Amino acid sequence: MGVRDDAEAIAPELVRLRRDIHREPEIGLHLPGTQSKVLAALEGLPLEISVGTALSSVTAVLRGGGAGGAGAGGGPAGDGPADGGPVVLLRGDMDALPVAERTGLDYASQTEGVMHACGHDLHVAMLAGAARLLAARQRDLPGTVVFMFQPGEEGHAGARHMIAEGVLDAAGQRPVAAYALHVASSELPAGVCSTRPGPMLAAAEILEVTVHGHGGHGSQPHLAADPIPVACEMVTALQTLVTRKFDVFDPVVITVGTFHAGTTDNVIPDEASFLATVRSFSPAARERVHESALALVGGIASAHGVAVSAAFRDGYPVTVNDAAETRFAAGVAAEVLGEERCLPQPNPLTGAEDFSFVLEQVPGAYLMLGACPPGADPATAPNNHAADAVFDDSVLAAGAALYTELALQRMAAAPAAP
Ligand SMILES: [Zn+2]
Ligand SMILES: [Zn+2]
Repeated sequence: MGVRDDAEAIAPELVRLRRDIHREPEIGLHLPGTQSKVLAALEGLPLEISVGTALSSVTAVLRGGGAGGAGAGGGPAGDGPADGGPVVLLRGDMDALPVAERTGLDYASQTEGVMHACGHDLHVAMLAGAARLLAARQRDLPGTVVFMFQPGEEGHAGARHMIAEGVLDAAGQRPVAAYALHVASSELPAGVCSTRPGPMLAAAEILEVTVHGHGGHGSQPHLAADPIPVACEMVTALQTLVTRKFDVFDPVVITVGTFHAGTTDNVIPDEASFLATVRSFSPAARERVHESALALVGGIASAHGVAVSAAFRDGYPVTVNDAAETRFAAGVAAEVLGEERCLPQPNPLTGAEDFSFVLEQVPGAYLMLGACPPGADPATAPNNHAADAVFDDSVLAAGAALYTELALQRMAAAPAAP
């Protein structure tokens, strides 16, 4: 039986696992319940399993029979290449969002205000499924697979923590390639995948600005240093910066999402502060928006004789798909899902991903997989992060098969992507 058939055969288990995780969503870096569900799903498989310290991650290493690693428990770093075969890393993120679910599904979240609204519950099930399918082929595997079950994708940089704890060296040598799938509740029909070479998702950062003025009576602004008009000027000037200083074909998005100052109408406050999300699609634009936004707010503050503290808070870099790996992965996806179900993605997405940290060190590809429920129109269905977003279970077998084939075919093709 082929991988796809084997995946269909375990689909009911994957649906069960996915719904168990969906019912009990967890947020952030510490997902003990989700972690134990992952460990239970992997139990009995011939894997070397380790768990995170700073976060509740699970790293599982599957060494192929051809890799000569049976029972070795992993040699020292750098020890493996000759007989270990190539290493391929597959990643699935595990965390949920602070969203109050409104889907009405019978397996909806039982935790108030927390929901798997980004479909990471499907990623866990698909990756656990791939571990099953690949473990069943262990004897014939021409290399090693690292399964990266990652908490804290939604703003907690879980991938960076896992890299710091050694996930990229878990097999004793660096992966030749890394792949991640992400489901979408809208835009793509179920079972249709899309990807692109180069920038796939934006870099996202938080710009934090506080204008330090000097408070006073609202009737005598000349005796105070009012921070509010200064901060307002910054907000509008940032929009001008975007349109005047950046190439429309290498765009930048700045959105001020919070603005806070003052307590009442007749008191000038000491401070005004705002937060903006800043998105960019190339390392060059990212660097330039840092410099120019900070210079801009600094210049406006000094023009008005007030102080400002401004900084970019650690965000995610641009998710850049390696051209050769993307071509390869799209070919595998076309084989697994069908030629007509694999679409080139015309533009990068304005969302951001911490898989970008992995792709900074390992060539690879990030693919979107449609999970829009049957009967819903992908163009209008609630999208990821919406309280009524629904992700269809029917894609779990396809996703598990795709992860599996990516690993199988990439190990066989090593060292370079064909
Ligand atoms: Zn998300
Ligand atoms: Zn996500």
